[in-house]
Amino acid sequence: MAGLSLRHIYKVYDGGVRAVSDFNLEIDDKEFIVFVGPSGCGKSTTLRMIAGLEDISAGELYIEDRLVNDVEPKDRDIAMVFQNYALYPHMTVYDNMAFGLKLRHISPQVIDEKIQEAAEILGIKHLLDRRPKALSGGQRQRVALGRAIVREPKVFLLDEPLSNLDAKLRVQMRTEITKIHHRLATTFIYVTHDQTEAMTMGTRIVVMKDGIVQQVDTPTTLYDNPANLFVACFLGSPQMNIFKAKLVEEGGNLYALIGETNKVMIPKSRAQRLIDKSVIGSDVLLGIRPEDVHYEQALVDAHPESVIDATVDVIENLGNETILYLNVEGKEDYTISRVNSRYVFNQGDQVKMYLATDHAHLFDPNTELTLMGVPDYNLIPAKLVAVDGTLAVMFGDTTIKLPTAVTERLTDQSVINNDVMLGIPPKAFKSEADHGENDVAIEGVAEFHDKYPRYKAVYATVRGMSNYMIIARPLDESFTGGEKLTMYVDPNDINLFNADGERIITVKPVSGNAATGTVIDNGSSVSYKLVGADGSKAKMSIDKAAITGAFDKTETDAPVHILSNGFTIEKAEIAKNPKMVVSGNITNLDEYRKDAVVTVEAPGFDAPLTVLIKNFSGYNVGDRIKLGVNPAAVKVGPVYTNANAIADAQAEGEVRYKEIMAVREKERELELSAAKAAEEQAAMANEMAEAIAEAEAYVAEEKAKKPAVKKPAAKKTTAKKPAAKTTAAKKPAAKKTTTAAKKPAVKKPAAKKK
Ligand code: ADP
Repeated sequence: MAGLSLRHIYKVYDGGVRAVSDFNLEIDDKEFIVFVGPSGCGKSTTLRMIAGLEDISAGELYIEDRLVNDVEPKDRDIAMVFQNYALYPHMTVYDNMAFGLKLRHISPQVIDEKIQEAAEILGIKHLLDRRPKALSGGQRQRVALGRAIVREPKVFLLDEPLSNLDAKLRVQMRTEITKIHHRLATTFIYVTHDQTEAMTMGTRIVVMKDGIVQQVDTPTTLYDNPANLFVACFLGSPQMNIFKAKLVEEGGNLYALIGETNKVMIPKSRAQRLIDKSVIGSDVLLGIRPEDVHYEQALVDAHPESVIDATVDVIENLGNETILYLNVEGKEDYTISRVNSRYVFNQGDQVKMYLATDHAHLFDPNTELTLMGVPDYNLIPAKLVAVDGTLAVMFGDTTIKLPTAVTERLTDQSVINNDVMLGIPPKAFKSEADHGENDVAIEGVAEFHDKYPRYKAVYATVRGMSNYMIIARPLDESFTGGEKLTMYVDPNDINLFNADGERIITVKPVSGNAATGTVIDNGSSVSYKLVGADGSKAKMSIDKAAITGAFDKTETDAPVHILSNGFTIEKAEIAKNPKMVVSGNITNLDEYRKDAVVTVEAPGFDAPLTVLIKNFSGYNVGDRIKLGVNPAAVKVGPVYTNANAIADAQAEGEVRYKEIMAVREKERELELSAAKAAEEQAAMANEMAEAIAEAEAYVAEEKAKKPAVKKPAAKKTTAKKPAAKTTAAKKPAAKKTTTAAKKPAVKKPAAKKK
């Protein structure tokens, strides 16, 4: 019984195949974790690293808080079950199960107890004397499981254990393994490419692609809230329909336009979960699962705003349901619908289908990331200003001053005193109760929240943001719509993005890529001899024709540095200036989407280089890397550090800071006066309402008088005149109430008089 912790795990096979990249996962004790993904995505490799059958190239693996990177497989307290059960053919089932225990010198009596117990759990007691060849596939798989169970491991690792079984047996063994997991109450890690196995067995699923974890969550969360297009399409069969659509807002409602003719509304309940309103007016990918494409007339009638026209092309009646393959204008591939099998269709039928857009998914067509739900970062347009000796990020009412630990990791100085996108991860928010001394308060209003298995996502409005701020908080905290919130953020937890969408705070302090250089003008070429702080040396040289002005000079023992963005890994680029090359070993990688900040230990420089590479691929931590250097990025002269840049920007920054504060002040004043105006208006409305009420009361009173007069008049012929007159004169009775009460008031006295 144990929890596991996988931290920044990489696997690079000989020959440079990177099978697993930056795998991070905390596995709780007793969890049933499933690794799922297409063939070759790195599932087995990860499992084999946990088992100790493969070396871990980089990163740390803990089993029950013990670092096990260098622990032998047999000492890791794990048991592994493979796809090909690997039973010893010449041994009986009993001996197969006993073998591992005998090797551990466990007494025959204890071995027997364990085998009997495991055989009981697995229902194979009657098979203990048989040899594997006399067993069916399912029975063999049970024996393989038994062999693992008797060892009472802390962790069970199962690598596609059911893929050799026929479909029916697979379904049966699926439930059995789940039962065994409940019974043993041990951590299970299970590898499969079969999404049904993943959905039905896992307490949590890790979806992988190309060696990279795409999303980790419970089956239902993955199904209902996929983080990206890949997860959305991988889970679910038939898979999610993806429509190319354009989002538009009309009359306060959000619509998706599909092709030229179809338009569906996305109801407010769903539309308000859009995490980036700037996509309105742009192309998106609209995802609708086949079970959300409805044919039922009642549903089509009830939702005329979300109906599309389609033509039936292929009909698959499965007995319990029918799968329709529909042609929809504006969609290249089929739109698939699961409908009740009692409906009868013919090829070519023109149908109207209701898209249940309250379950719609929206994805960014470029990044393929979800536009609904919980993003990696809340992205907030902000200003970055140099003030008080540091940088401050400002938006709405919020000012976040950045500590040196953050500013020294900034990879792009051009954002100083400029616009940035501030990124705050939803999980970075802390409450009044758990915040730290240096955390910054952000005020907002909780509007609504979604419950996820491990946290609550609170959607809050915050001044300065047009999107909701999404705040992940523990499940036991409660929020009411409209409630004021004060949330706290540690400035160390934020990130910044520049206008190109690049993440510009990296994980390590940015090196100035500095060296001491000798620059020699050789007539037709220039050479740079670089010496690092530790005395290590490097050399570069370039045709004079390839450089312009600035470095066409001779210097000795001069400070030299290379700008972080002055490197390339593209062979064609390197070939242009083949001697302008720096080589070294990668000591750290910080990848975000396609870009990377690479730390390279290279001779000739004072400290490891910080290298920015776009479209980075093919290299791993520990690899040797050859970097082409752009001659224009070689600067003779002292490094311009972030600290210098920030200091130089102070004067301008102070001005901007004051401007922003003045705007804030104005906004607050305007808001106050607006609030005051609203108050006055409300007071006036109140007065008017009172006046109207009074007037109505008067009218009612006047009306009340009339029937009181008329009725006695009608009665005149039958009733005693004086009696009628006296009652009519009783004003107080009429005043007290409205018409309903009046009749008795008139009648009763009349009756009494009789
Ligand atoms: P999965 O289990 O998801 O099918 P694997 O973990 O087996 O994927 O493989 C991940 C990647 O690593 C694949 O590209 C595969 O070709 C490669 N790979 C697996 N084993 C080796 C090996 N021993 N040597 C080199 N490459 C390997």
